[in-house]
Formats: sequence, C-alpha cells, structure tokens
Amino acid sequence: MNVRGLAALSKNAPLTPYSFTRRELLPNDVAIEIKYAGICHSDIHQVKEEWGGARFPMVPGHEIAGVVSAIGSSVSKFAVGDLVGVGVFIDSCRECPSCNKGIEQYCENGMTPTYNGLERDGVTPTMGGYSDGYVIHENYAVKIPASLDLAAVAPLLCAGITLYSPLKHWKAGPGKKVAVMGLGGLGHMGVKFAHALGAEVTVLSHSPNKEADARNLGADHFVVTSDPAQMKSVRRKFDLILNTVSAEHNINDYLSLLTTDGTLVVIGLPGVPFAVNADSLLSGRRSMAGSMIGGISEIQEMLDFCGEKNIVSEIELINADYVNTAYERTVKSDVRFRFVIDIATL
Ligand code: NAP
Ligand code: ZN
Ligand code: ZN
Repeated sequence: MNVRGLAALSKNAPLTPYSFTRRELLPNDVAIEIKYAGICHSDIHQVKEEWGGARFPMVPGHEIAGVVSAIGSSVSKFAVGDLVGVGVFIDSCRECPSCNKGIEQYCENGMTPTYNGLERDGVTPTMGGYSDGYVIHENYAVKIPASLDLAAVAPLLCAGITLYSPLKHWKAGPGKKVAVMGLGGLGHMGVKFAHALGAEVTVLSHSPNKEADARNLGADHFVVTSDPAQMKSVRRKFDLILNTVSAEHNINDYLSLLTTDGTLVVIGLPGVPFAVNADSLLSGRRSMAGSMIGGISEIQEMLDFCGEKNIVSEIELINADYVNTAYERTVKSDVRFRFVIDIATL
C-alpha cells in the first residue's frame, strides 16, 4: 500500500513530505484512510530524540482517527466505512500476563509502538499517523462513536486514554480531590474526565493566563504554581495528582500537596530523572506511581463514555504545512489544547 506522510529525516529535522509503503492486508487486517492525526508532545520528544533510541526517517503520530477503507478476508470487528481509531500501540505479544489481562500497553515482551519502533517481525519499522493510510490488525483498532466530531476525537486516542485510565484506576469520583499538573493536551482531557466523573478538580499550572480556560473545561480551582502563597494554600489537599508536565520540575513541591495516603501519578516524560526527597513521601504515607496510556478495551470504554457524555478534545485544526510551527508552539505551551492535522491537506 502506497502512503504519503510527513517525516523527520534526522534528529531535530523539520518534518517534510515523505512517501513510503505499508504491508498488503493480512486476513485480520483493516486498512484505514486516515482523516485526522493529533500532535502529542511525545511526537516532539521523539523527533528531538529526547528519550534516546530514535529511528529515522520517522513518521510520528499516534492519535489517529479515520475510516476503514478495506478489510482482510477474516475481519469480523469492522466493515468498510466504519469510523476507526488507532492509538499509541498497534500490536503486542498477545500471550503474556499483561496481554491476557487486556492491559496490552504493559506487554511484558514490549508493545509495538505505532511509530518509531519495529513490527513484531523485529525488522519492519513502524510509521505513524501523520500519513494518509494505516494497516493494522483489527484487534488493535477501536470504534469511534459517530456522534462525535472526528477531528476532535483523534486526541482521545492518546491524550484522552492516558488521563482516563489513571482516573479510573485510582477511583476518581465524588468526594475525591483531584489535581491535574499541566494544562496541555493531556491535562485538559484530565480536567474534562475528572469533572465528568464527579471529582473536585484543581489545575496546577505555570501559565496564569489559562485560568479561564481551566474553569470552562470543568476545573473548580486554579493554582499558579510559581506563586508560593497559592501553592501553600493547597498543601496536603489532594487525594490524587496527575502529573502531565513535559519539562523538568521539582517533584517535591507537588508531593507536599498530597493528603495522607494520597498518590501522585507520573504521566509526563520530561526525559530527566526526578530527585525525590524521602520526606516528601514519608510524611503522609504518600505514593508516587506511574501510568501509561490504556489497553484496547479501556480505550473502547473511554470512547463509549465520550459518546455518552459528548466529550471530545479542544483542538486547533491545522494544515499539514503548519506542523513545524505547531511543534514550536506546543513546546512554548501555546496550544489550546491540541493541534490536529487535517490529513486531507497533506
Ligand atoms: P503539552 O500539550 O505540551 O502539555 C504539557 C504541559 O506541561 C504544558 O501545557 C504546561 O502546562 C506544562 N509545562 C510545560 N513546560 C513546563 C515547564 N517548564 N514548567 C512547568 N510546566 C510546564 O504536552 P502533552 O502532549 O500533554 O504531553 C505531556 C507529557 O506527557 C509529555 O512529556 C508526553 O511525552 C507525556 N505523555 C505520556 C503518556 C503516558 O502514557 N504516560 C502519553 C502521552 C504523553 P501549564 O502551561 O498549564 O503549566
Ligand atoms: Zn501521545
Ligand atoms: Zn504481551
């Protein structure tokens, strides 16, 4: 299958038009005509090789929304014309304890990333969603409710599930005080979901100009993290803190905001280690945990929840030739709240 896309040809290089091929359909594969692809900060980290191990040419993109354009001979889950989504991984070993539990993102043999990785054959590079087509095993794709704006659904495939999953796992709901650190692509979905689940929601932001947006998204409170008085006013307040910050920061300042037995969940990946003071955890039997995206069945559950509650991402829809500017703006926290590429403009 011939595909057109956008690729970084080397570390830090601007994205440029790039053509490549994908495999022909295997019996359980679906072919997807991609309509929209969200820009996740992880795409930027990987193009800049901030996590190491990058493969070039790299076609980023793991927030994919499109339409099924063809199906293999044994496909049962999808028909041509169905709305379909692809997230951060496209395969896993299918036999380890995590895969058997439906938490394939924690596959003990390594999930297959949607791009910047290798297929399970160990040799074919995976290429992502900034492109006009994808081929994927049907069990690793999800159905998108037709009632939702397809462009604004794309970011749910990574940003959405990445916040939905820990909110469910740590039982956010009525009576729980939840804080979201960083009001970006991930954070704004955390606010929407935590609010929809009935929790009391606070945004912890280093951008004072985001307060009105935060409240419109469903936040009950807004704290400017550079203001010591505001930070002091929320000490020992939160049951759950979801940390989506993409840049280096002092984690102890935030651990001290947890109540006794509270949990801070690391979600952002700044690429540098945290320096945790033992006292930040001991004084309150606090936990620091991590969470990564969600499994296929949980992504489907989230999309169905979004369909019921009419939840989508707040997006800025861009043409393909704006992608490098969009990267620069995302790094400056100048995005409300997710850039989505209109693939028709490739
Ligand atoms: P984003 O849209 O750029 O949002 C990141 C937010 O972090 C910014 O909007 C900003 O919020 C805050 N921030 C940025 N620079 C900061 C600084 N110097 N000091 C303090 N706060 C700062 O990024 P995203 O797409 O939401 O991704 C966030 C992080 O999660 C990235 O590291 C990404 O790689 C990672 N990620 C993890 C998973 C997972 O499964 N765990 C999945 C996807 C992405 P304020 O302006 O409100 O402060
Ligand atoms: Zn992502
Ligand atoms: Zn596995």
